[in-house]
Amino acid sequence: MRARYKPWAADLIESHPEIVIPDPTLLKGKWQQEFGNDQPLHIEAGTGKGRFIVGMAKANPEINYIGIELFDSVIVTALESVLESPEGVPNLRLLRVDAKNLADYFEKAEVDRLYLNFSDPWPKTRHAKRRLTHESFLKIYQSILPADGEIHFKTDNRGLFEYSLVSISEYGMLLKDVSLDLHANEPEWNIMTEYEEKFSKKGQPIYRMEAQFQE
Ligand code: SAM
Repeated sequence: MRARYKPWAADLIESHPEIVIPDPTLLKGKWQQEFGNDQPLHIEAGTGKGRFIVGMAKANPEINYIGIELFDSVIVTALESVLESPEGVPNLRLLRVDAKNLADYFEKAEVDRLYLNFSDPWPKTRHAKRRLTHESFLKIYQSILPADGEIHFKTDNRGLFEYSLVSISEYGMLLKDVSLDLHANEPEWNIMTEYEEKFSKKGQPIYRMEAQFQE
């Protein structure tokens, strides 16, 4: 998601270091101190404008959340949602970083669950390494999750879903739950992302899986 260039985004982000953490390497191994509690930590890689992660944080105050996004022009919308929330969202932080560097920000088992929602499909085979379910990314996720940690993944893109089922299975992960049409019987706990709303309104099926690393 490349939102329109927003020259003011960097300034707004810099003026809220309590929400968009400027140097997350300094908090590696110390996220519980940052949140001031010992709640579980769930993160989303490729958070976009933050509808999912902000919604999850508000719905589940007993869990800490971190949304991770590459671009200022996109993550700034998540920041604005937090700033517009009258009570604030104390269990949420945002990182404007590349998910390929997650091991620089989190110790082994410091993250309890990883969400991937509507990740960029990178349909050309020569770009497969950029897909967030490529083996190289699974290795990074494994290094920050517990031995039996889980990835929860949603997408509208059938090609990416098929690729991810294979990549995740070949990595030796256990597929715990697979849906080929999440909205046919939408669970009450489902929180929609921006892309999910857009594609499901067009009648496209939403694919979802839960996969667990094996000890
Ligand atoms: N998750 C949101 C949703 O479902 O509406 C956004 C989906 S959008 C297609 C994918 C987002 O992932 C983009 O905002 C993109 O910038 C971000 N992204 C892609 N690769 C990333 C990476 N390596 N690290 C962090 N964010 C990434």
